[in-house]
Amino acid sequence: MLTQKESACKNVITEKMKEVAKKEGITPESIRNKIEEGKVVIVCGNGRKVPVAIGKGLRTKVNASIGTSSDIIDKDMEVEKAQIAEQSGADTLMELSISGDFDQIRRDVLKAVKMPVGSVPLYQAAIESIQKFGAIVKLPDEFLFETIEKQCEDGIGFMAIHCGVNRLTLDRLRNQGYRHGGLVSRGGAFITAWIVHNKRENPLYERFDDLLKILKKYDTVLSLGNGMRAGAISDSTDRAQIQELIINAELAQRAKHEGVQVIVEGPGHIPIDEIETNVILQKRMTNEAPFYMLGPIVTDVSAGYDHISATVGASLSSAYGADFICYVTPAEHLSLPFPEDVREGVIAARIAAHIGDTIKLKRRDMDLNVATARRDLNWEKQFKFFIEPEKGRKIRERHLPKDRETCTMCGKYCALKIANAFFTECEPET
Ligand code: SF4
Repeated sequence: MLTQKESACKNVITEKMKEVAKKEGITPESIRNKIEEGKVVIVCGNGRKVPVAIGKGLRTKVNASIGTSSDIIDKDMEVEKAQIAEQSGADTLMELSISGDFDQIRRDVLKAVKMPVGSVPLYQAAIESIQKFGAIVKLPDEFLFETIEKQCEDGIGFMAIHCGVNRLTLDRLRNQGYRHGGLVSRGGAFITAWIVHNKRENPLYERFDDLLKILKKYDTVLSLGNGMRAGAISDSTDRAQIQELIINAELAQRAKHEGVQVIVEGPGHIPIDEIETNVILQKRMTNEAPFYMLGPIVTDVSAGYDHISATVGASLSSAYGADFICYVTPAEHLSLPFPEDVREGVIAARIAAHIGDTIKLKRRDMDLNVATARRDLNWEKQFKFFIEPEKGRKIRERHLPKDRETCTMCGKYCALKIANAFFTECEPET
């Protein structure tokens, strides 16, 4: 079976291309063209039915991540979180469990949702290697590649794989004197420990062609991981992060050449004046491969409200050209997220994606609909176009105004109602 990339390169328009083109409101030929150029990918998963396109010129997509921790292993809660993410409008899910029965959790989550599901297969391979071989650093290459293939076969649609953390990247990290905020990527930390302990090159880098063969067989999208992402704004855009980006850009080129669909992940904490630079660097170096931005969180002091900091960062990054953003929940840096945190995180990320699209794609129809409905005091029409109508409705109905056309903010002194009376015949140019 050909991958979407191989089909596109042979000038073939697949059913999945037609399906995503319809959802995006563009032509299938335009999707095919962008997949051929490596600027768009279609994420789906072996045997799964709902394709999602990510990349240039398309609506910014939102990912929600769930998964057990070593302290809280509750499969049912993770399944519930996955379903809440889907109901709240996430486009994709990452199943990132680090404890429990990895295979069972993954399969149950895949069954529970229709949207594409991603993973970091290194988590399962590294953590199971503690029981099987005695330590994470004893993880054999073959076991890692077998785990990747097993997850692809199960239907995982995209995989974050930390190929760009190699000996050169670690030299850069050491030479710059490590970091103020340390290393915060779990995958990055596992691979770093493995390389340093074994005095060997990262097998995901050294045997990149073997990795591509597996991903190609299942048309699983390669998401080149950002193991050197900064976890503090004082570490952003440093030499280790840029070194990994250079390596990832070279690997993305090789993946595209082999017919494997690829996206490249971006950093975690960045001050707002470095966001545009990070988007330009990634897009320029990878010939506009889809950019998966993790957050970014734009200050280190907003714990409890990091979903708000991330909304600021994600709005700017999607406006500058990021194609795919990973949600952040209010529990970020504090605990494993619970179902309500997932809901809040997805809604915040969808707002950020929409803000980005009002600039990047000039998509302002929803905003215009709300504006005119608000002017006309048409509350039902406003709710219809809100990203999260239920919360808006609930807040309004906490205390209904005496005059139902208005709200309790100004009541009988409603500015809109007063001014509308003088402009009944007018309609602005659009
Ligand atoms: S009462 Fe005030 S806040 Fe409420 S709709 Fe009218 S102008 Fe807006």
